[in-house]
Amino acid sequence: MENYKHILLAVDFYEHCEAVASRANDLAVKYQAKLGIIHVVDSLPITDAGYGADIPFNLDLTTELMAGAKKRLSKLAEKMGVPEDRQWLEMGSPKSEIIRVAEENKVDLIVIGSHGRHGLALLLGSTANGVLHHATCDVLAVRLQDD
Ligand code: AMP
Repeated sequence: MENYKHILLAVDFYEHCEAVASRANDLAVKYQAKLGIIHVVDSLPITDAGYGADIPFNLDLTTELMAGAKKRLSKLAEKMGVPEDRQWLEMGSPKSEIIRVAEENKVDLIVIGSHGRHGLALLLGSTANGVLHHATCDVLAVRLQDD
């Protein structure tokens, strides 16, 4: 098997995300691979049928969320020595965006946590599950335990 050349770390900035980052970093060093980081801001609902009428898309809130996410991503990237052109801040479905960015940038290994925001009760979180099923490259799901 060839060495990995381009590793993509998917971070949700939830608890335990440092363990996932540390594993991605170790692998990048081991394989002398390029390391990139992606964070996806979940798309906000534009409408809520429960209120009977459309809720206007909140541009201020979106801008604020993106700015906050950008700061956290830049801070982590700086700590890990990841250059700006390998930092991806996207908006949409985490699973779809992780897969899209991986394909467009010829990533050969995605490193993801087994669980994040969507609950340790599940064997695999929904993002991890979706990426494992649909990615065209290798995926490492770092086992995260609830302690
Ligand atoms: P989950 O499926 O939400 O329990 O999360 C499992 C893993 O998917 C996390 O540990 C992250 O590696 C990744 N992940 C989840 N949400 C995001 C997100 N919004 N952006 C980037 N990676 C994510």
